[in-house]
Amino acid sequence: MFDVVIIGLGCAGYTAAVYCARYKLKVYLVGAEEGGMGNTAAEVGNWPGIIDIRGPDLMENFKNHALSFGDSVTYKISRVKQIEKITGGFSVEIEGAEKIEAKTIIFATGSNKRHLGVEGETEFSGKGVTYCATCDAFFYKNKDVAVIGGGDSAVEGAAIAAQVARKVYLIHRKNTFRAEPFWVDRVKEKKNVEFVLERNVKKIVGTTKVTGVELDQPHNGSRTIPVDGVFIEIGSNPAVDLPKQLGCALDPLGFLAVDSAQRTNIAGVFGAGDLTSASNHFAQFTTAAGEATVAANSVFNFLQSGK
Ligand code: NDP
Repeated sequence: MFDVVIIGLGCAGYTAAVYCARYKLKVYLVGAEEGGMGNTAAEVGNWPGIIDIRGPDLMENFKNHALSFGDSVTYKISRVKQIEKITGGFSVEIEGAEKIEAKTIIFATGSNKRHLGVEGETEFSGKGVTYCATCDAFFYKNKDVAVIGGGDSAVEGAAIAAQVARKVYLIHRKNTFRAEPFWVDRVKEKKNVEFVLERNVKKIVGTTKVTGVELDQPHNGSRTIPVDGVFIEIGSNPAVDLPKQLGCALDPLGFLAVDSAQRTNIAGVFGAGDLTSASNHFAQFTTAAGEATVAANSVFNFLQSGK
């Protein structure tokens, strides 16, 4: 039986693995996708100690650190299908692998990108509509694109897209941004970014692929903006399917409810990173790593004292 199964291969999962391995615990680290949301950050300028690094490079460093403990960490890239409570721990069913058993669990499953829910979104998904501007912008060299949203993902995405696209329309439903002023200023400096504010996208139009977006009100005299690509960056929902399946409580906003020790309502089950109610719902590399540190310490204490 493993001491802990850590589910999620992003910043929180890798950090939890590093700490658990240093506590000499027997760790099973599993997740469907390496790097998690961290891989979508084109530039990370707020990981203390490194002034500027690409998200995928930072995540590769995290992974290498987590895997530097030899046999202490068993690593598996696969989806967890089901978790059941058993005597003395949990049984975890993993796609393409045998069931494993662990005394404790750390959920570090992060979040899933939110969808806009407008006509044309599903039809043109993968045909011009995507959910990661910083990952996909480079496919739109010298083309026109729209980025929808007003948070860090959208504004950073617009700044990155502007490096390659001919024209970027940043479409936001308000006239103020919740994104870091750092990114807002970066976007304002770009001559090829046009702000389309206090407008909502009502429809995504196209033929075999995207040809434009239709707004709720005209912008510069027209309701339709012709574009080749649409990046929907309107936030994420916590990935709580597995914790819910196990009976973990959620907070009123739908995040995994944890206390100050990252404990859920189920003994032996902990959470860290973007899916939890901790850190004032502020999803950052630093907060995910901090929560994972606390979760690992709580696992260690739980295994020693049962609390
Ligand atoms: P956020 O939840 O922060 O922002 C979502 C944006 O989308 C908001 O501007 C919101 O509008 C808008 N929005 C939400 N729903 C709709 C809708 N139905 N129609 C139109 N607009 C909508 O999500 P992000 O993905 O930007 O960021 C998530 C977290 O990740 C944050 O904590 C952020 O700080 C972090 N992050 C950090 C980065 C970094 O540090 N470099 C990079 C990327 C993300 P409104 O403002 O009106 O609510």
